[in-house]
Amino acid sequence: MGTAKQTYQFKTEVQQLLKLIINSLYSNQDIFLRELISNASDAIDRLRFKAQTDPDILDGDGEFKIKITVDSDNRTIEIADNGTGMTHDEIMENIGTIAKSGTTAFLEVLEKSKKESAFTPELIGQFGVGFYSAFIVADEVTLITRAAGSDTAVKWWSQGDGEYAIEDTEKEGRGTTVILKLREKEEGEKDFAEEWTIRDIIKRHSDFISYPIVMDVEREEPVLDAEGKPVKEDQILDQDGKPIGPEKNKTIRVTKEETLNSMKAIWARDKKDISDQEYNEFYKHISHDWEDPMERLHFKMEGTTEYSALLYIPSQAPFDLFNVDRKHGVNLYSKRVFIMEDCKELIPEYMRFVKGVVDASDLNLNVSREILQQDRLVRNIRKNMLKKLFDLLSKMEDETYDKFYDAFGQVLKEGVHTDFDNREKISHLIRYKTTRSEDKWVSLKTYVENMKADQKEIYYITGDNLSALLNSPHLEKLKEKEYEVLLMTDPVDEWVTQSLPEYEGKPFKSAEKGDLDLDDVDEKKKDEYNSLFEFIKSELEENVKEVKPSTRLKHSVSCLSGNAQDMSAYMEKILQSSGQSPEKAKRILELNMEHPALTQFKTLFEKDQEDSRLKDYSHLIYDMAVISEGGKIDDPADFSKRVGELMADAMAQPE
Ligand code: ADP
Repeated sequence: MGTAKQTYQFKTEVQQLLKLIINSLYSNQDIFLRELISNASDAIDRLRFKAQTDPDILDGDGEFKIKITVDSDNRTIEIADNGTGMTHDEIMENIGTIAKSGTTAFLEVLEKSKKESAFTPELIGQFGVGFYSAFIVADEVTLITRAAGSDTAVKWWSQGDGEYAIEDTEKEGRGTTVILKLREKEEGEKDFAEEWTIRDIIKRHSDFISYPIVMDVEREEPVLDAEGKPVKEDQILDQDGKPIGPEKNKTIRVTKEETLNSMKAIWARDKKDISDQEYNEFYKHISHDWEDPMERLHFKMEGTTEYSALLYIPSQAPFDLFNVDRKHGVNLYSKRVFIMEDCKELIPEYMRFVKGVVDASDLNLNVSREILQQDRLVRNIRKNMLKKLFDLLSKMEDETYDKFYDAFGQVLKEGVHTDFDNREKISHLIRYKTTRSEDKWVSLKTYVENMKADQKEIYYITGDNLSALLNSPHLEKLKEKEYEVLLMTDPVDEWVTQSLPEYEGKPFKSAEKGDLDLDDVDEKKKDEYNSLFEFIKSELEENVKEVKPSTRLKHSVSCLSGNAQDMSAYMEKILQSSGQSPEKAKRILELNMEHPALTQFKTLFEKDQEDSRLKDYSHLIYDMAVISEGGKIDDPADFSKRVGELMADAMAQPE
């Protein structure tokens, strides 16, 4: 760590992000203050949490606050907190980059938005780019910070133009001060160098912040005498010695620190006194989302398990929903005092999209995470809250629920596998696209209601591509019979089907595994094909454990299936892509005895078993089955060569 100034380039994606922020958020300028105050409040929360186990870290300063200083002459705003502060390394890690996990996701969104030429603030909001929002209003941002427990401070500054600089500096007291040099105000824009503009924004966006947001204000105050009585202004007298005008108190100008926010914990207030806007602002603070939430749940429980909760369901999935290190959304308080963020014990993994606050009055303030896990109160809260959430989800209007499911269905489904006690409840909430409804979600209840009179099972097929599944040869017979099939396209579905054997007494059945028992196989015909099947099997020994007539196929020649307990092709693919190498299971090659290609194959086979084409066709039939289920064939070039030859042959032969 050197003391000298060092200059760095922003990462490319940050440069792009900055450009977007500056260009697309001009209609939403106010939010910069909310974001910076949120960061300050988070930094104090973090310090406070650390201080519970290490009180020395406070170093005598336990009077937490966020101080705003507006200098209208020089057009600067300062936001200073006495929270954790940052070390040199932490600055390098946090400011100037987008969190590692977010970069790819961000670039994807960027790419998409270019195509649709509609990069909305909501899209940016997903990435928690709070700090950068300073550049909406500032043409230079300086951050001076001193980490709690450190004696050196660091200064970071940038004009948002692609570069930033860092150097060591000095600072009194720990914490972070962000200084914004405001841009010239343009016609019609608010003047952020005005004290009342800042007051107004804080009142609207940050009133509930639980630390005082203070500002020095100059005020006229009455001058008091030794007895505390107001001293009167010298009065001007007329010619007769009578005072002109009323008697006035003498005043002087004093500077006073004023608290601008009410600090009222919104969750502790009465529902009927809270406006939608207040609820939404609070959501934005805790979630770092820029959009209003989809739903909220605010309630108080009384009795043995006393607590209040304010929970939200976001309206869009954050980019890092599937990142294992991702923070959960529920913060824990006791009697309005912050205990910890990201309280995983309060809400199961499969509800990790829920954001909010739980305030349990009987909880020990010094409670550790280890203790929380065994705490009965916490367990009860969790159970109770989960019940409320299930209730909320099941009562959501269809249209809203579909949107919810688009965003979070994949996460919710994990619960089928991980939460045995609530499996049934979750099973009512899961939805699938089906062969009959490729655009709209279908519930299992609706599926069962629509089952054909002679249909006994719930059919499903798994794979990563909806249209490939929809056209899968495995479904040909099922479609003919008009049996609806669930199209399962999420990896987690493999676990769902393993953990959910039935729904309302109807067993689940894979369309690609085991016998479908849809039609009886013509035994006599089967015997006629026996020796051909034996031949094909010996040709494909490496990949195929059995060759048999299919009851699944209608238009296609071949498909691959497995025994009921075999791993599905999709599962194999998932395991492979996660770096595991499952033993490649041999599959069953099913052939359509009704297909002319197969009848011809049989004729050729019976005419001359030495015909070299028999070997080629066996491999071709196998490759076709692999391709039709979206798999990769071993030798695509060879496949293509064979098909080319076949085409040439077919066209050369006269009718
Ligand atoms: P987010 O707050 O969504 O994580 P930001 O870009 O606003 O994104 O901030 C990035 C990180 O920088 C924060 O997660 C935090 O670690 C750090 N940070 C920002 N502001 C402060 C502050 N006032 N005090 C301490 N750390 C801060």
